[in-house]
Amino acid sequence: MAGAPRPPAPAADGRAAARLVAALAESGCPVCACLEADARRDLAAFLREQTMDPVGRAALRQAGGFCAWHTGLLREAADGILSVVLVAEELVRSAWPARPACPACAGLADRQAAYLAAPREAAVRPALREALERGPGLPCRPHLRAAAAPEPLVSGRVERLAAALGGFIAKQDYRSGMPPSPEEARAWSEALEHLAGRPRLFGSDLARAVDGSAAPR
Ligand SMILES: [Zn+2]
Ligand SMILES: [Zn+2]
Repeated sequence: MAGAPRPPAPAADGRAAARLVAALAESGCPVCACLEADARRDLAAFLREQTMDPVGRAALRQAGGFCAWHTGLLREAADGILSVVLVAEELVRSAWPARPACPACAGLADRQAAYLAAPREAAVRPALREALERGPGLPCRPHLRAAAAPEPLVSGRVERLAAALGGFIAKQDYRSGMPPSPEEARAWSEALEHLAGRPRLFGSDLARAVDGSAAPR
């Protein structure tokens, strides 16, 4: 239409938006899901390529090891336990750094920034906007806050989640005579992830009080 204001061109990485769209095809927060998948892939590469290398292990020791989230993911590393044992031995023998800084989180920072930038541009990314409205995925509140995403972006999807929770509750009444639908049956789990993110990713307020870091909420 002549004279109509044009939406600004997207500034964020289109690949990040495409990955979020793909992740929104599953339930749960797409940003948490992409970060967890990236973290698992990065850890597998580290275990494969750097644990046999004294220089790689020394760099990890100097950084103070991995954060609690990455350390937890090491428990589920698929590449065999020897690499994990090599890392653990290196770290157990090392001094405690005053202020550990997880190198794996540092390596994820750019990708996290790209995932958080994409929702702000949903107006010029129709596929992302549609996926955010339709679900079944739904970003978590910590990531929506960090992205400074406008609340209406997911308000329809949140309303549907609330209705599914209500439907589950209503069907506990024996007079309903109906089992919960699949969406209603998984609503409690989706609600918990929406409220606080994927388990372990954001840690507890107790942990933040102990290490003195600012709460990322
Ligand atoms: Zn999230
Ligand atoms: Zn980390």
